[in-house]
Amino acid sequence: MSRKLTIPRGTKIRKINLSRKVSPCPRCNHMGKRHSLGYRKLREIGISGPTILEIVYSKHYCTQCRRHFSQIMDHLAMPSGRFTNRVRKTAVDLVVKQSMTLEKATQRMRQKYHVHVPPTTLHDWIVASVDIILPQK
Ligand SMILES: [Zn+2]
Repeated sequence: MSRKLTIPRGTKIRKINLSRKVSPCPRCNHMGKRHSLGYRKLREIGISGPTILEIVYSKHYCTQCRRHFSQIMDHLAMPSGRFTNRVRKTAVDLVVKQSMTLEKATQRMRQKYHVHVPPTTLHDWIVASVDIILPQK
């Protein structure tokens, strides 16, 4: 499950190794042994230029459930996302808290944080976050 990612010149790459020999099964909490590694690239907020996180994570097998599972990394990104949660939150805040249009927020993300978030992607994020935002008003 690898997606092509064009890496602009001068991109900073930060490597993060999350791999563990054992990890708790998300279904039963039994400690499952690592059987292989997975790799994932995430676009991150960049201060002086484009920044990409290269994540190494471990894949495990639970002998109780007889199922494979991958390490959870919800703190970094959504399961199928290409951007970090920090990019997601920053972009959504520009629209929701600062009332920017999608296009303006996309422009700001690119100019200030060196990350290109397509307006359609940003729109999806806002729709997904509406349930969380409304009760605060
Ligand atoms: Zn299990």
